[in-house]
Amino acid sequence: MPERHIPLNRDELENLTEKYPTPFYLYDEKAIRKNAAYMNESFKWVPGGYKNYYAVKALPNPYVLEFIREEGMGFDCSSKAELLLAEKLGVRGEEIMFTSNDTPAEEYQKAMDLGAIINLDDISHIDYLNEHCGMPELICFRYNPGPLKKGNAIIGKPEEAKYGLTRDQLFEAYEQARSLGAKRFGLHTMVASNELDPDYFIETARMLFELVVELREKLDIQIEFVNLGGGIGIPYNPGENPVDLEKVSRGVKKHYDEIIVPGNAHPLNIVTENGRVVTGPYGYLVTRVIHEKHTYKDYVGTDASMANLMRPGMYGAHHEITVPGKNGAAEKTYDVTGSLCENNDKFAIDRRLPEIEVGDLLVIHDGGAHGHSMGFNYNGKLRCAEILLKADGSTRQIRRAENYDDLFATLDFSGLES
Ligand SMILES: *Cc1c(COP(=O)(O)O)cnc(C)c1O
Repeated sequence: MPERHIPLNRDELENLTEKYPTPFYLYDEKAIRKNAAYMNESFKWVPGGYKNYYAVKALPNPYVLEFIREEGMGFDCSSKAELLLAEKLGVRGEEIMFTSNDTPAEEYQKAMDLGAIINLDDISHIDYLNEHCGMPELICFRYNPGPLKKGNAIIGKPEEAKYGLTRDQLFEAYEQARSLGAKRFGLHTMVASNELDPDYFIETARMLFELVVELREKLDIQIEFVNLGGGIGIPYNPGENPVDLEKVSRGVKKHYDEIIVPGNAHPLNIVTENGRVVTGPYGYLVTRVIHEKHTYKDYVGTDASMANLMRPGMYGAHHEITVPGKNGAAEKTYDVTGSLCENNDKFAIDRRLPEIEVGDLLVIHDGGAHGHSMGFNYNGKLRCAEILLKADGSTRQIRRAENYDDLFATLDFSGLES
């Protein structure tokens, strides 16, 4: 197996750990910028200007969001905190897509105050939004095709997913919104997560394009943009390939020319809200081996845990691991663990890795999306720092590690006897 790329070698990483103790996340700015540019370039034919609204939840750090924005992306927010982050970065208006579900009025209000595009998850939210905040001029709906579309491993079968409106509800929803004063309309769907098949996204576009034409013909609703959602996958597993975005783009364009143009729905803008594919491969969890243990299996224990990277424990997700400086060494089979009192706190199970000694650094790959952001504090574990490897090669801490004061900040010790 060829060794996976890491942006720093062992000596450079060891130097870094003198300044920033392990564990920490390391993000590669240059690679993320290059990747964002590739994404934009792939869809540059789109009339009205393609935009990816970066899913903030994937890596909600202002330094990273700032340069993603410089690359021309907007922000897809799904909670008040994510809206507040966008606001702090000076982002306003239709640069923000608010795609939420089970949404409290307060969060809609924040989105309205910022002038964000509001993407409703249910037909009942039309009245809810209207009563609490009024009806915006521009409104978008999230479509759930149910049994009309085959499922995907993470989101599952559309008909069992909690998101979106049924087809019938969708038609009713546009009419309702229009009667309440909405004048501009978007159409959204997100039916996949971490999907690697380019045809899946091309097919999603076809499905939405047909709906756009139907909405125009049946209701005289002119859709201004379709949002194909996020969910483009990355090759976590060895042997997988990245999604060829140019292929996706060509496939989408073909349907555009065949459906939208003759359907008198041209020009239609196309946007997406991908997070993972933008940053995922360019973030690394750097951790140090602090124990080895030989019982019925061979274990190496790290100073990170599932509280830092939940995906393996939560989804059984595979994340490649590099032992820097040991490429080519004789291999052994290990379970790589963290310290939570949970047996699923394992970064890898039965993984062939170069022989590991206590003190070795491990680099866990593909942590640039849904990595640090899914962190939690169970067992009193502290979320780790985030370090940015800047385009000029220097590094900067862009989030400090939590400390015990942070952890206990919400507790009240004052009423205790002793
Ligand atoms: C999580 C999410 C995304 C981003 O998903 P990725 O897998 O990171 O591309 C986009 N849109 C919505 C509505 C989401 O919930």
